[in-house]
Amino acid sequence: MEKVIIVGTGCAGLTAAIYAARASLAPLVLEGRMPGGQLTTTTAVENFPGFPEGIYGPDLIERMHTQAEKFGARFQYGCVESFQPGEPHRLVVDGATLETESLIIASGASPRYLGIEGESALIGHGLTSCATCDGAFYRDVPVCVVGGGDSACEEATFLTRFASKVYLIHRRDSLRASKIMADRALSNPKIEPLWNSAITAYQTDAAGEVEGVVLRDLVSGAERSLPLKCVFVAIGHEPNTAAFRSHIHTDDAGYLVQTTGTCTNVAGVFAAGDVADHVYRQAITAAGQGCAAAMSAERWLAARE
Ligand code: NAP
Repeated sequence: MEKVIIVGTGCAGLTAAIYAARASLAPLVLEGRMPGGQLTTTTAVENFPGFPEGIYGPDLIERMHTQAEKFGARFQYGCVESFQPGEPHRLVVDGATLETESLIIASGASPRYLGIEGESALIGHGLTSCATCDGAFYRDVPVCVVGGGDSACEEATFLTRFASKVYLIHRRDSLRASKIMADRALSNPKIEPLWNSAITAYQTDAAGEVEGVVLRDLVSGAERSLPLKCVFVAIGHEPNTAAFRSHIHTDDAGYLVQTTGTCTNVAGVFAAGDVADHVYRQAITAAGQGCAAAMSAERWLAARE
């Protein structure tokens, strides 16, 4: 029987692990399909407090991992297949059942990509889903954002600080984004919307970096080449909640609902980071929630005893 199981090893899960381990709870931390989470797909992180020179995403994760282990967190690879709330809570992980008094779900969210062949190899090489993380690397060059929602408009507007030109590629002829976000993007002289358009292929240079895309006009079917240095995909995220949805409340978009602080509707089960947050989605906010979830779990366990 575990006292605390933490699902996920991104910023939220690892921060929860550090706090729970320092509280002598010896948490068991489950590393899923993408150990380290979304930060492992970024390059330099320049906005995490305490690193004025910036730090590489994978390095930051590695440091958090080391810090959690130093205090007694135990790590195990495994994907949660199902969850049964109770006393104890039960998780089926790769076919084996684990029992725990409390649970912190920090399984994150996965950005959606376009599903074009060879796409995953280009992530970090001119293909990204995070303008805040990578926008500053593309100064004075043309880039594009794919999508028509608030994220796409927000990212396109943000990218105009750096890029010489931002193409906003959308599959329809009107934006899904709220009027204020859409107006802000469309009135920006650096942003050029490309309506009824879809990327069908990425073009790369000799170093394997994106140098353009093949763009299809979805009305005429015509294709053309569009030179640019980075594709920012903003077509939404998928919270990693499949194993929990039948017992833990989710919102319309599938994110776990936090009731008070990081609590969920199930006593002793807490949610932290991108699995419950589609608004901020930053490493530092995820870390903050991981801390809060671990402290809440610790207090919940103490109150039971
Ligand atoms: P979203 O609202 O679901 O929009 C996703 C966009 O991507 C849509 O325009 C959709 O096209 C397009 N899309 C989806 N799959 C695609 C595909 N395979 N190929 C090409 N295009 C595709 O997602 P979001 O913009 O990330 O926003 C998520 C939530 O966060 C929303 O509730 C949003 O309001 C909120 N948000 C708020 C703010 C803010 O207020 N500051 C900022 C960001 C996000 P269609 O339109 O054709 O479906």
